[in-house]
Amino acid sequence: MVKSVSILGATGSIGTSTLDLLREGDYRVVALTANSDAKKLAALAREFDAEIAAVSDESAFPELKALLAGTRTKVVAGPEGMAEASAADSEILLSAIVGAAGLAPTMAGFNAGRKVALANKECLVVAGRLFMRAAQEQGVTVLPVDSEHNAVFQALACGKREAVAKVTLTASGGPFRAMSRERLAVVTPEEAVRHPNWSMGAKISIDSATLMNKGLELIEARYLFDLDPAQLDVVIHPQSVVHALVEFHDGAVVAQMAHPDMRIPIGFCLGWPERLAWNAPKLDLPRVGALHFEAPDYERFPALQLARNALEQGGGAPNVLNAANEVAIEAFRARRLSFQGIPGLVEAVLEKAAKEGYLAEANTVNDALRVDHVARSFAATLLPQFAAKAS
Ligand code: NAD
Ligand code: MG
Repeated sequence: MVKSVSILGATGSIGTSTLDLLREGDYRVVALTANSDAKKLAALAREFDAEIAAVSDESAFPELKALLAGTRTKVVAGPEGMAEASAADSEILLSAIVGAAGLAPTMAGFNAGRKVALANKECLVVAGRLFMRAAQEQGVTVLPVDSEHNAVFQALACGKREAVAKVTLTASGGPFRAMSRERLAVVTPEEAVRHPNWSMGAKISIDSATLMNKGLELIEARYLFDLDPAQLDVVIHPQSVVHALVEFHDGAVVAQMAHPDMRIPIGFCLGWPERLAWNAPKLDLPRVGALHFEAPDYERFPALQLARNALEQGGGAPNVLNAANEVAIEAFRARRLSFQGIPGLVEAVLEKAAKEGYLAEANTVNDALRVDHVARSFAATLLPQFAAKAS
């Protein structure tokens, strides 16, 4: 059970859920970070008497500094400030920045020997092999916050690794699960962020609507648990009660269930290897009534197929997929791209990256970040062709 915690991305959805749990216990908050929201970060740093507050965006530094004047909180900014926050002496570093931007700060945490609770799945998509190798070399445990991976982590404890036949992640199907292709062509960003079961940040909500989120999660699971792509599967389960299933060679399937609330997997990471006693919302199966399962529709949701292909291809393909997807989501939110333009653009960027030789496995994190950068520039170049179809 940990007593001191740092949070990367403290102002976000996962950050907020984590701080809710910290309010219930006797924790020391070491470092809190945000991208640029100085007001929210300063209020949290004051409430939790944080030792360090860091903003990634240097232009937010003067405001944060002014808001925290007279407190003991050290205020830092930019990449070095973020690295200092990650490295600060806490028992656990909760990595909850959204997107590839979380990779460097999380790695800085490893390098300082921090135990990491990982929500930022994009880290593993951008540089999965390098990320897990760095953790291993530093002897750092990576505890999965993502609910499905947290469930897999728990289910894997029921048998030997050699006995694992298959790992299945569940997907709610998102807000458009039953929508026709024609209707999908005209959905708005407001509709896409309205998730039926979870309240989350905008990016992951849109990823849940395209099913790219589940694709990113397959890649996340591959590296996190060192699985073969062929061992990984997805099933649609609209109730989000069963989070993942692990099938063993003897035919036994171990599933983890919980009320859909991210504080449960976060609390698991804070408590591990013990179980945290807190006032968690309890699963009420008679009230849920029925649990439904169905196969995903790869045709209506091509993002899942693209991610599955990148998973099988390995090398730099997941990294390029992720970068293109981040650009596509920004464009969709800005109404410059249609919903179906998201997988369209991602596919075009993957094709261009393949043609131009950018799909090799990166040897260093810097190499991976360079490919991320190139893929984003490809996406920006190709965007106008797709953008035209949005209006
Ligand atoms: P969010 O958008 O609500 O919060 C993101 C946080 O990251 C904020 O604190 C923001 O200030 C910070 N941030 C954004 N861009 C940054 C940058 N360039 N540099 C530094 N900091 C930056 O996102 P979220 O929903 O909390 O998701 C965070 C991560 O957790 C994502 O990778 C997501 O896939 C994963 N995750 C989230 C949920 C969920 O329920 N929200 C569930 C599972 C996994
Ligand atoms: Mg998840």
